[in-house]
Amino acid sequence: MTPSFPPLREELRGIEPYGAPQLSLEQAPVQLNVNENPYGPSAEAAADIARAVGEAAVSLNRYPDREFVELRARLAAYLCSSGGAGITPDMVWAANGSNEVMLQLLQAFGGPGRVALSFAPTYSMYPEYARDTHTTWETGHRAEDFSLDLDAARRLVEDRRPAVVLLPSPNNPTGTALPPEAVAMLCEAAASYEPGGIVVVDEAYGEFRRAGTPSALELLGEHRNLVVTRTMSKAFALAGARLGYLAADPAICDAIRVVRLPYHLSAVTQATALAALRHATELLGRVDDLRVERDATVVWLREQGLDVAESDANFVLFGRFADRHAVWQGLLDRGVLIRETGPDGWLRVSVGTGDEMAAFRQALTDVIKEQG
Ligand code: PMP
Repeated sequence: MTPSFPPLREELRGIEPYGAPQLSLEQAPVQLNVNENPYGPSAEAAADIARAVGEAAVSLNRYPDREFVELRARLAAYLCSSGGAGITPDMVWAANGSNEVMLQLLQAFGGPGRVALSFAPTYSMYPEYARDTHTTWETGHRAEDFSLDLDAARRLVEDRRPAVVLLPSPNNPTGTALPPEAVAMLCEAAASYEPGGIVVVDEAYGEFRRAGTPSALELLGEHRNLVVTRTMSKAFALAGARLGYLAADPAICDAIRVVRLPYHLSAVTQATALAALRHATELLGRVDDLRVERDATVVWLREQGLDVAESDANFVLFGRFADRHAVWQGLLDRGVLIRETGPDGWLRVSVGTGDEMAAFRQALTDVIKEQG
């Protein structure tokens, strides 16, 4: 008998790699599918990033700073200005996107015989981190309006005793933010058994929260098992640079150092992120515009008689369609690429520029008319 080739792990056979369709601008001029910031850096910021990378280039024969000391200090300062207080550099860790940060968390805190828990619908990469680290993946469920039933969530944590609880806030794909009481309650629940679990609040979209919804960063002083992850990919308009980070107790950052690959953050990445942080005000400058555009999108979709999830993020989940694929395809045929994700019948649109959202509204109006 010929052995199967390649000799892949059994559970990985036949699995498609994760990823939304990546189409060219010719194929889809309006790209609203991966929750990017539609506004790129100014010429001045781009030139500063290029200058910083140029300076790093002359010593690319050397490995980068393995502990990325300067970047950790700058990220700590940024977090203190963005909902956190008293965050010191030893409470910060970074990697190539918050995806890598969370994979490292699962490498350090998950593993065989341990459980990672989230509440569906939730971010679709989480089960992949679990699979890749041989961690058992379990989900509870969100209520009809995508909020968390706190008592049921606490009971599930106490019952399943997860090593890692993954809570996206705002949640992808629904846009729902968690109240601080929910985070606090689940941190307490995850600290009530041996050896206890960490609670990861994934704030990839944290900067887009509506006023009055505080960041989980505020709770860091009270819960040692709380980890808050952030990314420069969304509000910061830097998805191409791949820089995600977290804030947590220094002991958690230290534990990740055991599983990270040496020099995982290249000198080019560090220089880019540092230069971008110097332009933070500008790069984040369109967040308010995007919030306004998001809220207008929610109102408009409701006016069309659709169900729309409340959103604290830079995307909106709407439905419900008997054949969501046909709607997705109809939009794409008109040059508008959105995401076929979320519960059955729902679609997700990222918030783009005013012109892009006008194109989306026109295309959706046409598709709904055409499909009756
Ligand atoms: N968390 C959530 C909830 C996300 O939606 C994403 C990106 N889609 C990420 C984390 C990862 O983003 P990145 O790796 O670019 O930081």
